[in-house]
Amino acid sequence: MKAYRLTAGPVHLLRLTPGEDLIDTVERYAIDLGLTTAWFSYLGAVRAASLRYYDQEALVYRDFVLDEHLEILSGVGNITQLDGRPFVHTHAAFGDADGRAWGGHLNRGTTAFSIEVMIQELHGDPPVRLPDEGTGLATWGGTLPG
Ligand code: ZN
Repeated sequence: MKAYRLTAGPVHLLRLTPGEDLIDTVERYAIDLGLTTAWFSYLGAVRAASLRYYDQEALVYRDFVLDEHLEILSGVGNITQLDGRPFVHTHAAFGDADGRAWGGHLNRGTTAFSIEVMIQELHGDPPVRLPDEGTGLATWGGTLPG
């Protein structure tokens, strides 16, 4: 285990409008404001969702698309640093017109109908994503210099 000690900074509320890409919009906001570390949650509805599932045996992602209008039942994510820039990592559960739930790790291509996002800015000892041989993922493994 590796622990990082951070303190809470300002909270940001965003509303995404129809057609905006969830990951692109959160990433652009983080870059524009210079956010290095944050935790966020969201709810609302999407026109389509692009997701992936990580195969823990093959160590590869399996991509899939839900090309329909869906409710966001619950979305959570974080912003940390990868290769010197903000990296948005987010998972969500979606509900369809019949109340069935789907979910996974989100890709770009998840487009808003309307999404409300709360971003909790964090300060202190920011985690940095580094390649991890055990999982095959870019996991929290370092800290920013200084
Ligand atoms: Zn993930």
